[in-house]
Amino acid sequence: MAAQRVTVSSDGNKKISRVRVAVRLRPYLDKEDEKGEGPCVRGLDKQNLEIVNWRNATETVKYHFDAFHGEKTTQQEVFLSSVKPVLSHVLNGQNASVFAYGPTGAGKTHTMLGSAEKPGVIPRAVREVFNLVHAKDAEEGWDYSISMSYLEIYNEKVLDLLSPSSQDLPIRQDKDKNIFIPGLTNVTISSFSDFDTHFVPASLNRTTASTKMNQRSSRSHAILLIKVVRTSRVLPHRQQTGKLYLVDLAGSEDNRRTGNQGIRLKESGAINLSLFTLSKVVDSLNSGTSVRVPYRDSKLTRLLQDSLGGSAHSVMITNIAPEYKYYFDTFSALNFAAKSKMIVNKPFTRETVAVPVLPVKRAREEHKAGGSGS
Ligand code: ADP
Ligand code: MG
Repeated sequence: MAAQRVTVSSDGNKKISRVRVAVRLRPYLDKEDEKGEGPCVRGLDKQNLEIVNWRNATETVKYHFDAFHGEKTTQQEVFLSSVKPVLSHVLNGQNASVFAYGPTGAGKTHTMLGSAEKPGVIPRAVREVFNLVHAKDAEEGWDYSISMSYLEIYNEKVLDLLSPSSQDLPIRQDKDKNIFIPGLTNVTISSFSDFDTHFVPASLNRTTASTKMNQRSSRSHAILLIKVVRTSRVLPHRQQTGKLYLVDLAGSEDNRRTGNQGIRLKESGAINLSLFTLSKVVDSLNSGTSVRVPYRDSKLTRLLQDSLGGSAHSVMITNIAPEYKYYFDTFSALNFAAKSKMIVNKPFTRETVAVPVLPVKRAREEHKAGGSGS
């Protein structure tokens, strides 16, 4: 993995890290997609990918990222290259955040949570934090304590998933500019199985509603917080706290096209506020200028204010799907994720059809008829 670019701001002491952006393309799953037209996006190498340009079928749009994880990438590889490097900082009293971004069905939950056979970022990161603490225990003069909180932001409300009956919780900032949520459950965990005992039932408390697009569509942001507090064994018992946020974001799809109405539409609007603000925050951090970062404009970014930008270490894994039905959501997710993109005058060679040009044209006409642009 390339070293994180770090610049020093005008006041000379605060380090500003940009957000590292990785893209993960999941395997082609829906063989019925657009009458079997095959994938509309594919990887080129470890940092670049290309997608059909719907405006002109003889062109592709190429994107460059910190990392590109192709459809064969394993859970372990994603963890090792995009997540593990930030974890050691959390033991040193620094903050970190890892997000899964992308449309519903593109693999966010697979990436973050995974399954029993293919565990994702969350179980791997929690195990690794325990490993790092155990490795440190002997050699240094610190005692470590690990705790967890688990919450969701739903309709711009903050809900405690470890205490499901709780109401919308406030987000506050202390005099040292640390963000905290008074009343949020914070349980000490002493092992991975301890973590699992609390995490698994709480995962089931997540609010979900089915949409036309995907039965398992999730309308909320699920946020796991792992806090590592270390206390010096000698007087004056100095204490440092590092926070790790692991976030499975709500679907980034354009809800005007999912047929959402009424309450769902209202939910979509609220979700979009947090996602929209997140995109402004990431842009503003990555531009490296000293413009005001709009953390306060949504609950999600307010909560992450001390763990996104500043001296924190942040990684965004943008999940995308190769099927045509995701085309516009993929396009907009990539545009959210990428500052650098380039139109290449070269036809996108189709892999699963005999005559490569026609299906691309047809898809283009259909998308045109569908209305919205990039
Ligand atoms: P999201 O959380 O973004 O809505 P999911 O993680 O639920 O998407 O993924 C949608 C489907 O695709 C699930 O059935 C999931 O198991 C599968 N999937 C996603 N990513 C991968 C992958 N990298 N390899 C294999 N299957 C995947
Ligand atoms: Mg999901």
